[in-house]
Amino acid sequence: MPAILLTHPDCLIHEMPRHPERPDRLRSVLATLRERGLTSEMNQGLASEISLDLIEEVHPRRYIDDVLSFEPRAGVAKFEADTYMSPGSSRAARLSAGAVAEATSRVLAGESNRAFCAIRPPGHHAEIAAAFGFCLFNNVAIGARLALQDPSVKRVAILDFDVHHCNGTVDIFKDDPRVMVCSSFQEDFYPHRFLDYENKHIINTPLAVGTSGAQYRSLIESTWLRRIETHKPDIIFISAGFDAHRDDPLAEIQLIEDDYRWITEMIVSLADSHSEGRIVSTLEGGYDLQALGNSAAAHVAALVN
Ligand SMILES: [Zn+2]
Repeated sequence: MPAILLTHPDCLIHEMPRHPERPDRLRSVLATLRERGLTSEMNQGLASEISLDLIEEVHPRRYIDDVLSFEPRAGVAKFEADTYMSPGSSRAARLSAGAVAEATSRVLAGESNRAFCAIRPPGHHAEIAAAFGFCLFNNVAIGARLALQDPSVKRVAILDFDVHHCNGTVDIFKDDPRVMVCSSFQEDFYPHRFLDYENKHIINTPLAVGTSGAQYRSLIESTWLRRIETHKPDIIFISAGFDAHRDDPLAEIQLIEDDYRWITEMIVSLADSHSEGRIVSTLEGGYDLQALGNSAAAHVAALVN
């Protein structure tokens, strides 16, 4: 059962002006996966646009309409402080969410137990009814909601190792104990929202500026591992952001490629013990092109092996 890789070239047409979340990010990820021979080991497919009904599993229709109708006919328009739309942005956003929804369905249907969605825009900052931080629709949350409709899925875990806190994912699942959300993030850092939740199923792991790989591994083991084992998720989702890399221009954490291999192997081991091996991973942040490509390749290599 080769792992599934879903992407679409139209994820490149979403443009923001002089912005770190740029099309070259996705090009770098796909080129590095190809160079390392990973794409040939995977069952590659083109994502399809998600239906509005499926987006409505997470976002209210009025918000969806606001996003889709905001797309400019030419140029670039600012949707919120950090998030812009260009011609093609709506399609890219629907393809990104569509990739995660399809990956979820195919993994739950038993076609493979691993999937990686190489997509943009990312999703984990998108709240129930608000775009934030380069995100329009919360791709991973849509996948998790879809998974919960499957009779075999009673509990889900979303593990987010992007360097930014997943305010959107927490907003969406803060009152749903079926969905454990674990987020590691640089402390006192963007976006400063939904950090005050003490709910048992929301696990926040703040990282001090300069946190090393060794410190990171020890923190993740002490704050995530037992909680996930107790939760026993039937499927694990990964919000795979690579901006905690030491070369990333937006943050100040010191991870290297091998730390992404390590955390992915840890998640694979948890999934093999509790989740019938089922993992759906989706690209979130990562803004140094080389660090992003190499880290994503280390992640995917650990996911498919
Ligand atoms: Zn990020």
